[in-house]
Amino acid sequence: MDLHKLIVPNRGEIAIRIARACREAGIVSVLGHAEDDDIRFTRRFFDETISLGSSYLDVDAVIDAARKSGADALHPGYGFLSERAALAAACEDAGIVFVGPKSSSIAAMGSKAESRRLMQKLGVPVVPGYDGEEQSLDALLREGEKVGFPLLVKASAGGGGKGMKIVRAVSELRAAIESAQREAMKAFGDDRLLLERYIEEPRHVEFQIFGDAHGNIVHLFERDCSLQRRHQKVVEESPAPRYSDALRQGMAKAAIAAAAGVEYRNAGTVEFIVTPEREFYFLEMNTRLQVEHPVTELVTGVDLVRAQLAIAAGEPLPWQQSELRQRGHAIEVRVYAEDPDDRFLPQSGAIALYSEPSGPGVRVDAGVTRGSEIGLRFDPMLAKLICFAEDRGTCIDRMARALRDYVILGTKTNVSWLRRVITYPAFREGLVSTRFLEEHADSLAPQPSDLAPQIAAAILECGGRAAAFQSGSRAAAVQSVWDALGGWGRR
Ligand code: ADP
Ligand code: ADP
Ligand code: MG
Repeated sequence: MDLHKLIVPNRGEIAIRIARACREAGIVSVLGHAEDDDIRFTRRFFDETISLGSSYLDVDAVIDAARKSGADALHPGYGFLSERAALAAACEDAGIVFVGPKSSSIAAMGSKAESRRLMQKLGVPVVPGYDGEEQSLDALLREGEKVGFPLLVKASAGGGGKGMKIVRAVSELRAAIESAQREAMKAFGDDRLLLERYIEEPRHVEFQIFGDAHGNIVHLFERDCSLQRRHQKVVEESPAPRYSDALRQGMAKAAIAAAAGVEYRNAGTVEFIVTPEREFYFLEMNTRLQVEHPVTELVTGVDLVRAQLAIAAGEPLPWQQSELRQRGHAIEVRVYAEDPDDRFLPQSGAIALYSEPSGPGVRVDAGVTRGSEIGLRFDPMLAKLICFAEDRGTCIDRMARALRDYVILGTKTNVSWLRRVITYPAFREGLVSTRFLEEHADSLAPQPSDLAPQIAAAILECGGRAAAFQSGSRAAAVQSVWDALGGWGRR
């Protein structure tokens, strides 16, 4: 491969994921990190490290670090600067290969309003709504009434589920517009808004696409990411349950048309929202590797990051559409340092005990290990657990087992809550929607129980954990004890 040294200005599990691909491809890897971040674990996977200064968000500092380290390529990961056209453009100017699309594609897709207008031109269906340039309060109020209620106010520059407001009646519209404008300005430095009809009980289904510099575009099937909290994904899977081949093929065709319309290069994701009547609409395109990419890797058997590197080096796509197959079933859950008992508030602390699940069909992409310091400064995602099996039911059984085997002490996590989600009857039946976690919140909440004797037992057994886990019915009790102990390191 014609890349020699690659810098990753990012952190945690995604930095490690990229470093692993570099090692396999014979590319020297450089971790670009914020000066005060805890990189003791992450750096083990890299050949070199370099400070980016105080944050991960300064384009000039990133380019400087790339130059100083002698990197000829840069992989932005996800989050941070990954969807900033300015970073891709700065790399283009500095002669550094940006592992991602052209800066012009990022710019075209960076605005939800602009990308919606483009999709309409390409004949890709979008949610009925308003995506015009006219942004005065009067215009937005007038257009909002035309869209009808309920509607969703969105920041055109938005991401990560931020700045969205559901408006159920005309009387609430003005306040929602004003507060969305303030939030959008603060979070994205851009207060332009978009109004969409709010779809009740929809599903979020997205397509992984890949393009090369030679005009080839393929899709690598879908991921259903309907299980969300505050518009952020928590559980993702492929294939999407209960959907016909015809529906999925229709969406795949639209996803390819969307990518072809911007001459898309490298990895990208076309997100759709699907109504209960199975109509689908374009939501947005994410011009980067996605958090949930391992789900696709497991059902297709390909390495998406390695393919990204090859394409960035100018090679043609490693696969033709007809060679790509979706087989078996994969599910990913996002493991967060958060407290499901207390409004899912982010947690901090040092990880005192850490033991990952393993075994057939189990993959863990983690950014932490025993001793890692979890702070409140960055996103609280600790790891992703991804399971693969020949069918969905077996995959759920496997995920439930793997979650039971996952021990993290020192900070509270959502591990046990995830297990309740995965084993919940409606999930097993595939009755997913973006409202699922809210609708079943009470049933999924931790059940109160008197754990004092079990806590004492667990403390005694900390050294002999394996024995405790093997002892049949006691294993369930001990699992909840880990939860009760979750925050012990802070006291
Ligand atoms: P993804 O499927 O990759 O999470 P999203 O569109 O949901 O895609 O998220 C957009 C990006 O925002 C992601 O790259 C993610 O890392 C980042 N992100 C998610 N949550 C937050 C948050 N709370 N604050 C800032 N960025 C976030
Ligand atoms: P972000 O950039 O924050 O990821 P998206 O436009 O992709 O923003 O929307 C994030 C999530 O919000 C979707 O996955 C979906 O759950 C919900 N959502 C977005 N648009 C609508 C809509 N028109 N109706 C109902 N839910 C929506
Ligand atoms: Mg999105």
